[in-house]
Order: sequence, then C-alpha cells, then structure tokens
Amino acid sequence: MAKRTVRDTEVEGKTVLVRVDFNVPMDIKTGVITDDSRIRAALPTITYLLDHKAKVILCSHLGRPDGRVVEGLRMTPVAQRLSQLVDLPVSTVSDCIGTAVEKAADNLKGGEILLLENIRFYPQEEANDPSFAQALAKPADIYVDDAFGTAHRAHASTVGVAKYLPAIAGFLMEKELEALSSILSTPEHPFGALLGGAKVSDKIGLIQNILDKVDILLIGGGMAATFLKVQGYEVGLSLVEADKQELAHQLIEAAKQNGASLFLPVDVVVSDSISEQATGEVVPIARIPPNKYIADIGHQTVELFSQQIRQCRTVFWNGPMGVYEIPRFAQGTKALVELLANLKATTIIGGGSTAEIVEEMKLTHKMTHVSTGGGASLKFLQGKSLPGVAVLLDREH
Ligand code: ADP
Ligand code: MG
Repeated sequence: MAKRTVRDTEVEGKTVLVRVDFNVPMDIKTGVITDDSRIRAALPTITYLLDHKAKVILCSHLGRPDGRVVEGLRMTPVAQRLSQLVDLPVSTVSDCIGTAVEKAADNLKGGEILLLENIRFYPQEEANDPSFAQALAKPADIYVDDAFGTAHRAHASTVGVAKYLPAIAGFLMEKELEALSSILSTPEHPFGALLGGAKVSDKIGLIQNILDKVDILLIGGGMAATFLKVQGYEVGLSLVEADKQELAHQLIEAAKQNGASLFLPVDVVVSDSISEQATGEVVPIARIPPNKYIADIGHQTVELFSQQIRQCRTVFWNGPMGVYEIPRFAQGTKALVELLANLKATTIIGGGSTAEIVEEMKLTHKMTHVSTGGGASLKFLQGKSLPGVAVLLDREH
C-alpha cells in the first residue's frame, strides 16, 4: 500500500493516538452493546501496538451527541467490552483533551490502553477546529488512523490532528484501502457490479467511475425504476427521479460504448404500499400497475442476475434489491447474498445498508471483503479522495 502503516513505524515506548470507529449500536437506556463488530475490527491494530509496547490512547465518536455531553453516549460501555476482548484493563477518562487526559496519558506504560471520552461531545471535532486538534495531539507522539468509516469526513480527529503528529494507517484502514483499490485498479475479469438501493442520485458517481472497468452491470432496487422508465416502461408509483432520467439514459449509452452488458429487472414484486402489512405480487416489467410500487425484484430477475454473477471472477455489490427492511420484500436481496457467499470469486461489498444485510445473515466471513465504511467506501469507489486518507504519510517518507 502507498500509505505508511504501523508496521513501518517504530512504536515501542511511544504514545500512540489511535482514531478508531467504535460507533457501535447500543441500547441507550441499558448501555448494552448490541453489535461489537466495529470494536473487533480494530483489534488487529490495537493488539499489534500493545504487543509492541506502545502506550495506546484510543479515541472515537459514538452516536450523534451534536457537540454536547450526552450521558447515554459516554464511552464507558465500550471500554468494558474492549477490555473483555483484549483481556486487559482499559482505563477511561471523561474528557478528550486537557489536563485530566494528559495526566492519564502520563501514567500509561508500554502495553497499556486509555480510551478517551466521546470525541463528538465537542463541537470543535466536526468543525475541525485547529486548536482542538492540537490539544488532542498534545499527549501523543504518533497518530494512527484506523477509522476508515469516518475517513470521508474532515474532522479534528481524522484530519486536523495530522498537522501536529506523524500520521499513519492502522491495519483496518490498510485492509479497506487495499480491497477497495483492487477492484478499481486490478479486478479479475469478468468483473460484475450489482447495484441497488433507493435512489439513482446517490449512486451516479459510483456508476460513472466503474463503468469502464466492469463487464457486467446489474441494476435493481428502487433506482431501477428510473432506468426502466427511460427504457419506456411504466413504473407505477415508484420514485422516478425526473431530473436524473437524462443521466440514466447517458449511463445506458456509456455502458454500451464501454462494452459493458447492462441488465435491468425483467420482473418485479409490486405492492399497494411499502409497509409491514402490505402484500406483494410478481409482475413482468411490462405490466406494472399504475397504482403500485416496485418493492423487490422478481424470481426471473433473481435467476437472470444469478446467471450473470456466476460468470464473474470479481463481483462488487452495493445497495439492496428491494425494501429489505420488510421481510416480504427482502427475498430478492437475500437470494443474491446467498449466491455471493457461495461464489468462487472475489466478492467485495460496500455501503451501510448492504453491509448490514450481510452481517445480519451472518455471511460476512464468506465474502472476500465487507467494507466497514458505508459512506466512505462509496466515496472512495466514486474515485474521490478521502480527506482522512489524504493526510496520512506516504510510504517513502
Ligand atoms: P447502502 O447504504 O448500502 O449504500 P442505500 O442507502 O443506497 O444502500 O439503499 C438502501 C435503501 O434502499 C434501503 O432503505 C431500501 O429500503 C431501499 N430500497 C431498495 N429497493 C427499494 C425499492 N424498490 N423502493 C424503495 N426503496 C428501496
Ligand atoms: Mg445507505
């Protein structure tokens, strides 16, 4: 990788400030963490630093406290969970900067951990305030960014701090960058992209950036409606982004010019409403009733998309094929997740909802890489520079 990592840096005896993404789902009333996978994802970096006798200061945000102290969003439950996972005490301090933090940092010995308070208790964090970033950097010798999921945001703890400390990547950051860049630079062909989700407008940049790299492009989900409309089909009450129709048309033409085969649904599940009570029926795309919504892809589409996916050596998937939050409309998505999980190919999954589905189906370990960074992974795959990555030192330095 082009970026310097903890592996390339002498950390023994150094105080290392690590930005992690411990923004775990939590029951606010009981403080019970309902999914600790984000904490687990940071363990390789943390244990490496501990084994190499660094003094480890961890910092993260949790929830959306919007720049003030919210009791239910303190880091204490996270410290407890982390302590169980590393089988070591994790000390905490109820601040992120200032004398209490500096004192706690001074008391650390090599191989010990201190977890700072929720960084978003300070409005200066999201404002990327320079003096706050400087205060955050003060107790440390080195800054490690292992929070890929927030690397698309220029905050004090992801960007500002790098002005005051040598900034390097942690292992999770490295793994994310390697997996995502591999599909942009050296995908094994045939390379297929399976795209869904609610809106075309969210995914235009992504489609444009991968169009000249993919052999097969499969489009489902809510955004298929705009593409179907452009192809002359009636899509009932489904959301059509009128201002994106011209673009959808251009994308269809560009796919042709690039020699990529584009597939849209051939049948869909339609419903009177998008609700738990709603029932669905499968219709061919030529017979979508005017008073119904497209809620999922149909069986024939699952079959068509599966045939295409089976030919691929690399598959990138982002965006559910239907309103997966309602079990009745999750079938198309789930069928394709099962297929991807059992495919002998490189499978890379990106996007918040998309990763959540794989996680819920407990199939993460069957994919090559499921990105932990929802928005960050999409921005990266749009070919945009992530501010939190841009500030990290290059390897040759
Ligand atoms: P990700 O977070 O993985 O990038 P998106 O945010 O783009 O995914 O899309 C997720 C949302 O897309 C889900 O809330 C899902 O309900 C919605 N969605 C998928 N298919 C449809 C559809 N046919 N109609 C309306 N919404 C849909
Ligand atoms: Mg989303």
